Amino acid sequence: TNSVKAAKVYQIGTDVTYPPFEFANDQNKYVGIDIDLMNAVAKEEGFKVNIKPIGFNAAVQSLESGQIDGVMAGMAITPVRQQTFDFSKPYYKTGVIIAVAKNSKIKSFKQLRGKKVALKTGTAAAAYAQSIQSKYGFKTVTFDDSDTMYNDVVNGNSVACFEDYPVMQYAIKTGLKLKIATKPAQSGYYGFAVMKGKNQVLLQKFDRGLVKLKKNGTYQKIVNKYLDTAA
Ligand code: GLN
Repeated sequence: TNSVKAAKVYQIGTDVTYPPFEFANDQNKYVGIDIDLMNAVAKEEGFKVNIKPIGFNAAVQSLESGQIDGVMAGMAITPVRQQTFDFSKPYYKTGVIIAVAKNSKIKSFKQLRGKKVALKTGTAAAAYAQSIQSKYGFKTVTFDDSDTMYNDVVNGNSVACFEDYPVMQYAIKTGLKLKIATKPAQSGYYGFAVMKGKNQVLLQKFDRGLVKLKKNGTYQKIVNKYLDTAA
């Protein structure tokens, strides 16, 4: 037959709000380093994407259950995740810090004993917090998105939250009333994820596009666009 097969549109899950990597701008349009990078790679390699801001944990769950093709959401490449997912080459450096209220005296994990900290469901930062929880004896409360987690600390319900340092640095720079209290731990990198053994063509295209965008300066332009304009 002569039926024309429509070009596949890859469904890419992302977080609802994780600036400077993904967030809705003033016109309610999704922008950020991850969004621009994914769109630029798709253009470079000639494939189509539909970016779905569904939340970090929801995106990871949807990828695992095969409802979407990939996750681009400031997702850290970790050994545990590599058992379930295949990652692209790393595209951004990260690490886990705690952020506290501006007037807080907390400077170390030791000072968290008996106190409550805020975590974001399914994140590498939450996994790190849970791995040191019994040693430092803190309590936890979990949230599905970063904003409500930050607010819990701003409101004084929690004394600290665990977050990635590039994300917290940007949030503070753009007005969040918290401060970073510890040095980055669990240093690592963000990568684009697909289900293990699936969507290998997409993964190869992403890696190939990323190399090209790094060579031709587009990658740096995208990063600078968000980091230079932060108030
Ligand atoms: N970087 C963290 C992780 O990989 C959180 C990502 C996010 O919240 N969007 O788990």
